Amino acid sequence: MAIASALQGVRTRIEAAARDAGRDPAGIQLIAVSKTFPAEAVAEAAACDQVHFGESYAQELRDKAAALPGALRWHFIGRLQTNKARYIAPVAHRVHALETVHQAEALVRRAPGPLRCLVPVNAAGEASKGGLPPREVLDRCEVLSKIEGIEIVGLMTLPPWSEDPQDAAPWFAQVADLAARGRARGIPLHELSMGMSHDFEVAIHHGATWVRVGTAVFGERR
Ligand SMILES: *Cc1c(COP(=O)(O)O)cnc(C)c1O
Repeated sequence: MAIASALQGVRTRIEAAARDAGRDPAGIQLIAVSKTFPAEAVAEAAACDQVHFGESYAQELRDKAAALPGALRWHFIGRLQTNKARYIAPVAHRVHALETVHQAEALVRRAPGPLRCLVPVNAAGEASKGGLPPREVLDRCEVLSKIEGIEIVGLMTLPPWSEDPQDAAPWFAQVADLAARGRARGIPLHELSMGMSHDFEVAIHHGATWVRVGTAVFGERR
């Protein structure tokens, strides 16, 4: 019951933020980030018509995808390790943080068909986080797009933590601008994965098409 009402609350906020930004709410999809929560919690959200789920750990993704109905769509949002590609590629609807050719090749070997991926942008240059420096992103997208079996469809970002969600606005704007410049170069970067529990409304204002929301749906992770 708690998940049902939390999910409804988040959906209402997404719609309000979309309207505020003059966007069609249908252009924003909620990814319920279920990492560390049991399959039962995912099933509870799925019973409320939640389709997209996000996981950060490869084996956890594999186990939940096996345990839950095939109609659910799984997003791998964690850092990629090539030796774990075999757990991810067979089940992922999207891989949100593909950085290298080496990673792409590991995924392709295990993917049943074309795999849609996003490239992560480390907009603030934080050493503790993955992602590419903005100036390297578009060239890398071009290289990765040429790999048979990989489709680069967008960019992902995770801005520096700040008490005030509005502080994330310049980072989201920068990543949206980068995607627009990519499209002008002919790279089909139509998807923007940005915004979490704390700042998804700000991300929607800056063009997010996927918001990755965990805590606001499932509660605090232990
Ligand atoms: C855990 C996680 C989220 C969800 O974060 P919340 O603050 O719980 O909404 C989103 N994106 C990534 C990459 C994550 O690892």
